[in-house]
Amino acid sequence: MIDEILERVQDRGITKADALYLSSLSSQELFHLADQLRREAVGDSVTYVINRNINFTNSCIGDCAFCAFRSDTGYVLSEEQILQKVQEAVEIGATEICIQGGLLRDMMLDDYCGMLENIKSNFAVHIHAFSPMEVFHAARNSGSDIGDALKALKNSGLNSMPGTAAEILDDSIRRKICPSKISTEQWVDIVTTAHRLGIPTTATMLYGHVESFEDRINHILLIRDIQQKTRGFTEFIPLPFMAKNNSLGTLAHRENSIDDIKVHALSRILLHKSIKNVQASWVKLGVKLAQVTLLYGVNDLGGTLMEENITKSAGGTAGEYLSPNDLEGLITGVGRTPRRRTTLYELI
Ligand code: SF4
Repeated sequence: MIDEILERVQDRGITKADALYLSSLSSQELFHLADQLRREAVGDSVTYVINRNINFTNSCIGDCAFCAFRSDTGYVLSEEQILQKVQEAVEIGATEICIQGGLLRDMMLDDYCGMLENIKSNFAVHIHAFSPMEVFHAARNSGSDIGDALKALKNSGLNSMPGTAAEILDDSIRRKICPSKISTEQWVDIVTTAHRLGIPTTATMLYGHVESFEDRINHILLIRDIQQKTRGFTEFIPLPFMAKNNSLGTLAHRENSIDDIKVHALSRILLHKSIKNVQASWVKLGVKLAQVTLLYGVNDLGGTLMEENITKSAGGTAGEYLSPNDLEGLITGVGRTPRRRTTLYELI
């Protein structure tokens, strides 16, 4: 049976039944297979990007049950504060600025575009910004359709988008954990429209709350199916749920480190020949566990970040910044070759 499944893995035709079978294998078998496929897909290099996160506001009209970042007495960064943060990032060699924020009731598409234009007119950096939920919010507030909103953002300097707000792409789960967020269909529509317009995105999955293992498999296979149509995803990033300071925390079932490694390993296998890059989020997993995932399917450690507010407010303790030296030490520590990259995985 495993040989037949491996043929389908190579043909990008793995089925849900195959995925369920694979998830019933022993951890050693699953992890070994993920490591083999990682080597076949990307060799022994492990990549990272020098970037900076900017969360321009923590005020939000949303009601996500997993969110510990939103605040009723929140801040909104001024244009000058944003430019100052970009300046600091550029000075330490950042090639990417990652911008996401809460949903401000009156924030219009022009405001999002203005933020991009302001940065682009001062700095030659790649702007990786605005989740599909933020794009939806900007379009809705301004009476624009999604395609026109994305075109306007791209014309203002948007280079790529985080594929966040995906959580678990199943509406029965979304009704429980993020009832006022965009639906599965809307997320898929925004992401595929972005890809069609030449805006690459990442793909993410928030796991370890109320979803089942089968829900995770459905999510990963949906991402695979989108990728086979658009080729617009740059990487897949499993994001473990952080349970502190939010109402979902009491219901969550994030199990243990083996479960975390299993999610990353299975992602590598199910996405083989579709998405080459599987990223570990060191800020959520913790630095040590992120390093371990490099042995079982992961080939990217994401960014240096410089600043991190969302995970920290939900109990994350991994810190806000890892220097290039720190990241390279983690990578060489497992016998692999560190490579700095751009947001779009060109090696530097
Ligand atoms: S996750 Fe984002 S959209 Fe949801 S409440 Fe928090 S800040 Fe708002």
